[in-house]
Amino acid sequence: MHYEAAEGLARESLRKLQTERLRRTITTCLRSSFYGSRLGALGLGPDDFSSPDDIEKLPFTTKDDLRGNYPYGFLCQPMDQYVRLHASSGTTGTPTAIFYTQSDIDSWAGLVARCMYAVGLRKGDVFQNMSGYGLFTGGLGIHYGSERLGCLTVPAGAGNSKRQLKLLRDFHVAGIHIIPSYALHFASFLKNEGVDPRSLDWRIALIGAEPHTEEVRQRIQDLLGIKAYNSYGLTEMNGPGVAFECEEQAGMHLWEDAYIAEIIDSETGEHVAEGQVGELVMTTLCRDGMPLLRYRTRDLTRFIPGMCACGRTHVRIDRITGRADDMLIIKGCNIYPMQIEQALMSVPEVAQNYVIELFKEGEMDQLRVKVEIKDEYFVEDMRALTALQKKIAGRLRDEILVTPRVELVQHDSIPKGEGKAVRVVDLRGKE
Ligand code: AMP
Ligand code: ZN
Repeated sequence: MHYEAAEGLARESLRKLQTERLRRTITTCLRSSFYGSRLGALGLGPDDFSSPDDIEKLPFTTKDDLRGNYPYGFLCQPMDQYVRLHASSGTTGTPTAIFYTQSDIDSWAGLVARCMYAVGLRKGDVFQNMSGYGLFTGGLGIHYGSERLGCLTVPAGAGNSKRQLKLLRDFHVAGIHIIPSYALHFASFLKNEGVDPRSLDWRIALIGAEPHTEEVRQRIQDLLGIKAYNSYGLTEMNGPGVAFECEEQAGMHLWEDAYIAEIIDSETGEHVAEGQVGELVMTTLCRDGMPLLRYRTRDLTRFIPGMCACGRTHVRIDRITGRADDMLIIKGCNIYPMQIEQALMSVPEVAQNYVIELFKEGEMDQLRVKVEIKDEYFVEDMRALTALQKKIAGRLRDEILVTPRVELVQHDSIPKGEGKAVRVVDLRGKE
């Protein structure tokens, strides 16, 4: 059962639809000052695109292009056609703003509704959005999709766990949207309050917006007693609703009637071989206000070969394994923060939160990992703690080939904001 027939379109029909929509998108793009001059210089117009594969004729669009033409250089419609803007969290540098027309908001809500339906939410379910609102798309983006599906939507926002719990109970909430780091934090809150998560009516959590491992998903499912589904999106491509797991939990369907997705080698810009990991590049097909062509997401993933058992025909992407730009190089070893998380989460004594710190010792870059330890293991016995520290350092060494300093800290002692967790802190030159 699908929310929309488009989810099960035969591949050939899907490609035909993509071609039509790509041509229309090119026509729209020509109206913006950025693409108008870029496509103009290359002499490209809609007639140059007779299959989705022709997309390779286009140059990439990067975050720097967005920044360089901030705020209005990508707009394709008269100013009075826009009804909303969002901005990406911009953990680095100036933010990028994305502008939406009413029809963009409508098609985005449809995509999110489709995702929520795919994980088993239905009209009549009560849905609590526990992610931050404001410029962050995880608030209003999920909110509008939930209303579109017909759910009674509780715009709880992030934080204030006591109030979240009251809302969950009072309104018999069936589904929540929550970022993974907050989900783990909320689980320990429930434990401290003596609340059995299985006494709540919730069944389903949508988790996304920040990278997390399969181990973290399993933990969330075990600790909260619900099914957790991975949700992928980015502001530049609307926000949430770009790619989403179905009930199979076997990769995220990327909605190909709304986007053309490619996976490239970040160095060469060429497509990687089938099933290989590379940088996800995306083109919007349903956006009138601010379409983007071949946008480089910097997110690393791969297409999962084969069809999904759910019957949806849209391609699946694998869990995001990192960013093309978050690779750490310590003592000559390439390290992804996700590898560190994976190793930490395999240690039962480790609680939810951790921070990776980079610092300099003499000329050498060093790595320090501060790890929260579950209360029951945070004992007075120095020998036990030292042994645990060694065990964690060894586990990390096996995974990343470098032995980091490991600092054990008490549960809930690492400061936590309401937004995305900050996992890597660069202290080089600052200590
Ligand atoms: P923003 O536009 O500020 O919401 O940030 C979007 C970025 O968050 C993406 O480019 C990804 O790097 C990350 N992100 C979003 N959803 C996921 C997810 N499900 N798994 C891993 N990373 C994600
Ligand atoms: Zn599926």
